[in-house]
Formats: sequence, C-alpha cells, structure tokens
Amino acid sequence: MAFFDTKIEFLKGVGPQKADLLKTELSIFTFGDLIQHFPFRHEDRTKFYSISEIHENLPYVQLKGRIVNVSTVGERRKKRLVARFDDGSGAVDLVWFQGIPWISKKLKPGYEYIAFGKPQRFGRTMSISHPELEEVTIETEQKGGLEPVYSTTEKLKNKFLDSRGISKLIKNLLPEAVKHITESLPEEIISRYGFIARDQAINNLHYPSDAKILARAVARLKFEELFLIQLQLLSLKLLRVEKFRGQVFDKVPTLTDFYKNHLPFDLTNAQKRVVKEIYSDFKSGKQMNRLLQGDVGSGKTIVAFICMLIAIDNDAQACLMAPTEILADQHYNGLKEFADKLGITIAKLTGSSKKSERKVIHEDLLSGNLKIIVGTHALIEDTVDFKNLGLCIIDEQHRFGVAQRAKLWQKQSEAFPHILVMTATPIPRTLAMTLYGDLDVSQIDELPAGRKPIQTSHLFDSNRLRLFGFIKEQIEQGRQTYIVYPLIEESEKLDYKNLEDGYESVCRAFPDFHISIVHGKMKAADKDFEMQRFVKGETQIMVATTVIEVGVNVPNATVMVIENAEKFGLAQLHQLRGRVGRGGEQSYCILMTSYKLSKEGKIRIKTMTDTNNGFEIADVDLKLRGPGDISGTQQSGVVNLKFADIARDGKVIKEARALAREILEEDPTLSSDKNSLLKVQLDKINKAPTNWSRIS
Ligand code: ADP
Ligand code: MG
Repeated sequence: MAFFDTKIEFLKGVGPQKADLLKTELSIFTFGDLIQHFPFRHEDRTKFYSISEIHENLPYVQLKGRIVNVSTVGERRKKRLVARFDDGSGAVDLVWFQGIPWISKKLKPGYEYIAFGKPQRFGRTMSISHPELEEVTIETEQKGGLEPVYSTTEKLKNKFLDSRGISKLIKNLLPEAVKHITESLPEEIISRYGFIARDQAINNLHYPSDAKILARAVARLKFEELFLIQLQLLSLKLLRVEKFRGQVFDKVPTLTDFYKNHLPFDLTNAQKRVVKEIYSDFKSGKQMNRLLQGDVGSGKTIVAFICMLIAIDNDAQACLMAPTEILADQHYNGLKEFADKLGITIAKLTGSSKKSERKVIHEDLLSGNLKIIVGTHALIEDTVDFKNLGLCIIDEQHRFGVAQRAKLWQKQSEAFPHILVMTATPIPRTLAMTLYGDLDVSQIDELPAGRKPIQTSHLFDSNRLRLFGFIKEQIEQGRQTYIVYPLIEESEKLDYKNLEDGYESVCRAFPDFHISIVHGKMKAADKDFEMQRFVKGETQIMVATTVIEVGVNVPNATVMVIENAEKFGLAQLHQLRGRVGRGGEQSYCILMTSYKLSKEGKIRIKTMTDTNNGFEIADVDLKLRGPGDISGTQQSGVVNLKFADIARDGKVIKEARALAREILEEDPTLSSDKNSLLKVQLDKINKAPTNWSRIS
C-alpha cells in the first residue's frame, strides 16, 4: 500500500523540479500515479526499414545507418541542422529546427545510429525531422521489441521528460512496483476467463515482450475496468430496490376516466407496454428508477401524463422538469389541455416566473392544492417544497447535471419519489448500459400509426432557388417550415449575423408570408410570443437557432431546413429533423451545405439521408466522436475509462455485465470469502469522490 503512496520526488531521477512538473502537467503525485500513467500505444522496434524502401506514407520507421555529413542550412528562423544518414541502400536527411547547438555537438559522423521518426518528402529528398536518435551499442542492439509511448507535454519535454524520459522513470520503478501489485479479481474469475495476473498485466502493459502478451494485458485490464463499473451499478440498483421504499400507487379512477373520455388517439402498443411497465413499478412498493427512451415523435408526453395521473389518483403530486423554458412552456401547454378537462390543477415554474406567482405556487405545492408542476431547474431551488411529491419526470435528461437530479430526488425524504427519466437522444445500448446501468429501461420503439417517414435530402447552397420554390409549394398547401441556423459559441457574433442575414433573405424571398424568428438572445417573453405565433399558424416560416432543437411540437410543420448542416453533430441533426413528421402529412428535411465538406461531414450528411433510425444514427455518432462527446457523458466520468472504449468494446461490456449480475444474484452483498476481493474494490470505488453512477 504505502509503496504506491510514496511521493514521486523520491524516485531516482526525479528532482524537485521534475516532480513539480509531473504534478502540475500530468497529475502524477505518487509512485502509484506514475505506474498508472499507461502508454497510449507501442512502437514496434523489432523491424528496421532499409532507407531505399521508405516513403512518405509510412507512419513511423526505424532505420539503422551512419551519419555521413552534418551541416547547418538557412538563416535565422529558417535555420536548420541537416545530417545525411546512409544505410547502404540509400540516404535520408535528418533535420532539426530546434536545439541545434546541443544536437550538433552530439552527432558523430561515421558512427552507427538507430534513427526513428516519420518520413516526409521534400521534392526529391526524403527527410525525417526531429528523429529519435540513439547510438548503436550492445544495449540498443538487444533492445528491440515493443516500446511504450507515453503522453507528455511541452513543458515536460523541455525538462527531458519526453515519452522516452518518462519511459525511463517507469522502467526504473516497475520491477519494484510489480512486487507490490496485488490481485484484484477472485481466482475463480481469473481462471474462468484465462486472464493473466494483475501484476503481469500491468508490467506487460508498459513493457510487453511481444504483441500477444500485450493484447492479453489489455484484455484483462479492460474487462476488469468494465466489470467493476457494472458491479457498482448493479449493486447500487439492488440496494435501492431493497432499501428505498416507494409510495404504492394502485388506484386509477381518473386515469380510467381519461382513457374512456378524453384520450385523443389510440395508444401505440409500445406506449401501452411502457405504461404497464411503469404501473407495475408503481404497485411494487419499491422506488422506481426508470429510463424511458423513445425516438423523437414517438409520443413520450402522453405517457408522462398518464403516469402523472396515476400519481394524482393516489394522493401524490407530480412534477415534470424540462431543460429549457421553451420546452417547459410546450409541456405545460400540452398537459394543461388534458388537465383542464379532468379538473386537475397544474402550474408552471421557470426562471421568468414572477415573484408573486412563485409565492402562490410555493404555497399551493406545500398545501397539496397544486397537483402538477411543470418547470425548468427553477423547480429544484431550495424554496420549493411539496406536500407529497410522488413522481418526478425529467425530460431530455442529458441537459441536467448529475447534481441537479440528485437534488430533485431529495425533495421527498420519507419515501423517495418515483423517478422517470425521459430521453429522445438515442443512446447505443452499450453506452446506456454503462451510463444508466442502474436504471430500468423502457423503450417506445414504435411511432404512432399513419406517420410517413421523413424524406431527407441534401442540397448545396447553390441550389437555394430550388429550395425556396419547394418551401413556397409546401406553404401554399397550408404547411409550415422551419429554417435553422447553427449557433456555435466560439463565433457567436458571426452566427447571429448569419441568422440575421438568413432572416432577411427569407423575408425578401417570401414577401407574402409571415415569418417568425427565435434565438437564444431574445427575452423569454419575446421568444414565447414568436413561438406561439408559429404554433397557432399565424406565421408560416420559423427562422431559428437550435433553441427549437428539443421537444417543440408543431404537427403542421412539414419542412425542416438546416443551414450549414455540416456544422451540426448527428445527434443534433436527428433532433432537429424530429421537429417535423409529427402529423399525418409527408414531411421533409433538407440539409444545406456548401461544396466544402470534411470527410466526417460527408459521413454525417450521408447517414442522415440514409436512415431515420435514431439508434443507427447514434451508433455512427458514437463511432465518429467517441463516447466522451455524446451528450451528457462528459459529466459522467465515462471518458475517464483508462482501458476500455465504449464505442468498440460492446461485447466486453455485455460479458462484464452478465458476470456482475451472476455474482450479485448469488451473493448480493459480496460477503462470501471468494468475493472478498470484489468487496474491497467496490468499497474503494464507492468512496471515490467522482461517484458518477448516481444519475437520479
Ligand atoms: P416525443 O416522444 O418526441 O416527446 P410527443 O410526445 O411530443 O413526442 O408526441 C409527438 C406527436 O405525436 C404529438 O403531436 C402527439 O400528440 C402525437 N402522438 C403521441 N402518441 C400518439 C398516438 N398513439 N397516436 C397518434 N398520435 C400520437
Ligand atoms: Mg418530447
């Protein structure tokens, strides 16, 4: 134990100066931190290229040859040191732009060196700039093998702690450290999966003797990492089920009335199934923690309302929390229509609610007069107290931070409110398992009948006249159109200019139509006013930024034009597209771009025109961006995975989850002897400050 807590300055070769840099640059404070600074790749040093066979498309090459000539060329800032390097088959130039005096003193013409670097072509000569260069000695001759490459920083490099320097430190420490590494997985698991021991895995992750053992080291550590996460999530779930009482909701008189007399359409089978799943949670006496996934337009709102009715039928209150004011408004208006018919009290609380309104709402929530409250995070302000909060619904969960949700969760202390997290952001299954592994999941995997799939097409900016012609046609048939502009924070000013220019050109192109504009800088009341004009059909075109991305529901809108579509991520494009196709009419999504498209931009546009399936899109998105960028995962800590890659390791995640489940089913508290190691690991994780699994 104590060994790994040893301060890094006590390591041979690390003085106070280097120690400080290691701390500030890489957060390496102790021996343990250093050992866990794993290489991000290995270089194959077993192979030497002959100079005649190298070309500029090779990533890195290792050469063995002699320096035949050293000269300094160029003046001032263009000054560089060039060493001609020859191996008998041909010659390359080794080039340095920095550290010239120091390097030129070290270079010994005629001696044999090993050079390592990226070949480049300048005209007819091949060169390698800033190569790693080592004199051939008996030691270097024998080295070969796989060399670890460590991440480092400019500041560290200046103190000779480049990858090579760090690797030397680790090499010094490793033999002693390995003796202190203890096993973390039970013998049974190790032999069942044929894993190598933990100390061997860590040793070989730094300095593998060959590629095979490196792969085994990675496999073991990956599995362990994912397995411990699953063990933690599933045991948390178990604990909740056992310990956390939920109110029992088993009476449904108002719901029955609603079904009989007010339901505006038949529920889809998927909606019915989800309601059933939730109702069985409500009846169970346990606290519900459920994620409701449903693609845009799948009809989550009505499910939410039905759940609220059940809560109200059992003398509890319900709240719905939305990420933006516009969305809160939209939900409020939608739900109010139903609530009024049933004589149920409902109110809205957002950042822009007046003080006097607030006061009344606070009082009514406390007295129990108010049954449904819809709002933004204003809802979780400390002054809001309920008489009996029975159900919390969180819409579009990725906009809420972990802490915010936890706060809401604590509003009711005797029996925790049931929690339903709704999301329209399709999350690939493997990511969901890791992010929401402690929640039960319900899915609305069916769109309401009669929906026609949205037709998506891609137009270049030069085809704008065609676009305008099409919009005109649609509006003349009584439909409405969105035109969305990107808003990227770094260039906010520019984007607003784009938006305003766009608005003007739309006004000029459609002098006979009414046009709304909505963007994030407008006052809430103005935004609301403009939105309402569009909702009521008083305006035919809505020019907007992505503020309309989530939740806005105008079934009569059939055209979604996305300007500069290449600037949007896939998840966002899919969300935006989901704003149309919400009624019975054929809808269209038109992605406008310039001719200049990056490779990824092309893939995104093609994915959008190829499929309407949110899960397929999410998978492509995950592959393009990696899990760290998928909405909401930043705060989850998933990006901190050291070994596993959620986008690629789906199979391992499933295996790990299955094993965790198997173990916990047999021994829920991990109190048996054979699981004692796991108990230690789990306690350690639960004590760690970033306990990101508490998502609700
Ligand atoms: P989302 O899941 O994106 O929140 P909404 O709840 O806003 O979707 O529903 C989208 C549209 O579909 C709304 O206009 C809603 O009234 C309608 N809708 C929902 N369920 C059904 C259904 N079973 N049959 C017909 N229309 C439905
Ligand atoms: Mg919605």
